[in-house]
Amino acid sequence: MKKLCDIEVCGDCLGWIANGTIPDDRPTLLAEIAKVWPGDMRHIVAGNSEDDNDEGAFSWSGCECCGSRLGGTRYAAAVLTADLSA
Ligand SMILES: [Zn+2]
Repeated sequence: MKKLCDIEVCGDCLGWIANGTIPDDRPTLLAEIAKVWPGDMRHIVAGNSEDDNDEGAFSWSGCECCGSRLGGTRYAAAVLTADLSA
């Protein structure tokens, strides 16, 4: 696997990526992620290589994982892809 791209994700998505948890108030979270990353959602991992102690940062930009447009804390994540050239 190699990194396809870095993304900034909301706290709800981070919880799912890191722990597999779905917040009670976001029952459609997986469906929302599947719309943004059809085929790739199993390859989203928390964190990135540059910052192992990601505390998150507030942003009004939409979540790049689920597509939520609510402002909030964003955390680093990465989308991996199979390295077909290896
Ligand atoms: Zn999200």
